[in-house]
Amino acid sequence: EIETSRLQQLDHAHFMHPFTDHNDLGAKGTRIIERADGVYIEDTAGQKILDGMAGLWCVNVGYGRKSIADAVYEQMQTLPFYNSFFQCTHPPAVELAHELATLAPEGMNHVFFTGSGSESNDTVLRMVRHYWALKGQPEKQVMITRENAYHGSTVAAASLGGMKPMHRQGGLPIPGIEHIAQPYWFGEGGALSADELGLKAAQALEARIQAVGPDKVAAFMAEPVQGAGGVIIPPASYWPEVKRILAQYDILLVVDEVICGFGRTGEWFGCQYYDLTPDLMPIAKGMTSGYLPMGGVIVADKVAEVLAAGGEFFHGYTYSGHPVAAAAALENLRILKEEKIPEYVRDVAAPYLAQAWLTLADHPLVGEARSLGLMGALELVRHRETRERFAESLKVGERCRDYAVEAGLVMRAVGDTMIIAPPLVITTEQIDELVTKARQALDMTWEALSSER
Ligand code: PLP
Repeated sequence: EIETSRLQQLDHAHFMHPFTDHNDLGAKGTRIIERADGVYIEDTAGQKILDGMAGLWCVNVGYGRKSIADAVYEQMQTLPFYNSFFQCTHPPAVELAHELATLAPEGMNHVFFTGSGSESNDTVLRMVRHYWALKGQPEKQVMITRENAYHGSTVAAASLGGMKPMHRQGGLPIPGIEHIAQPYWFGEGGALSADELGLKAAQALEARIQAVGPDKVAAFMAEPVQGAGGVIIPPASYWPEVKRILAQYDILLVVDEVICGFGRTGEWFGCQYYDLTPDLMPIAKGMTSGYLPMGGVIVADKVAEVLAAGGEFFHGYTYSGHPVAAAAALENLRILKEEKIPEYVRDVAAPYLAQAWLTLADHPLVGEARSLGLMGALELVRHRETRERFAESLKVGERCRDYAVEAGLVMRAVGDTMIIAPPLVITTEQIDELVTKARQALDMTWEALSSER
């Protein structure tokens, strides 16, 4: 075994981490996570931490599922790899496609497999444009998405996303992508009621469609609840108005289910929570509960039929439908179904989290506490009444995140918005523990800020 300090040295010397400031890393030393079980992770120093983020929103069935390990082991011995190009296939991918079609909303019976959420969204962009070209409307090429959204890190996915710091690196977005405001009621200051703000944000879509030209707009893409952007829960008025607009202008709806899919909202898919009828649904993460990398796009029959009639779609990945990842996904879906995990989220865990999480709204640092399904956010503010934020240089969110780890909880900081999305199997006792630890982190942050407020 290599000692922690040696691992940290090697890490610093060689490992270019995603989304990490390496200057910071050198000073603090990386936390090295060695093992995990249930909802807890453990580092090489022996600290057990409640994983309030399910890894990266993905370990839906919790850590340490032996049956997934067994399914993977068995599949590796039978057929570790074969491709699904050129009229070939293999049993795990076929079974998985069938299973996903069964679980997906009615009328979505086709799956294109990828290796990740980013690849799923690259696939979406090409599929959507190809679809309209095949329909004889090749000028319908523009995709409208939302500011501050995260849809992945490949060139197309990062362009579809609306994160400005990502766009500034590498000359993004690519042409043909438009971003509109997200329905972020707390962030908008509260001059409008939540429903007024929801309507306004939806109507920004209509305004942009008209500005671009309805005959040029191919699709609108969004998450049911915006996850990495800060758990932005749309006001009730938002989605019905978006649906009306898309129907009026004959524009496809792409619902990014990479985070919301596989039970996180208490439904199998987030679109079901909001009664949406997607044309394309990118998926990943909870599809295998992160046990192996895999993604896909679930495609509505109306789109799949046009694509099929168009002949070969020149697109695919070596690992599209990878047999071992498919075996992991199948076992993961079996667990989600047999243990009725989406139902548990809907009927037990989400209502319990909602009441427990909202108790944090009384903390002097918290401007708003909100949750939906097993996703929650806390808005940290200098003044609760005015919603005034702290200066960015104080890095209040990051500090709160670090205090949370000290208290034994992984929370994520999106600026000064603290977010959680624990494994879906979290018990009510563990939810109490999560909320207690979150409060400790808030107290520690408040205390540390006392001289700076
Ligand atoms: N879409 C959403 C909504 C996501 O949250 C993410 C990742 O966090 C992605 C797409 C990209 O997925 P991946 O990291 O598997 O490429």
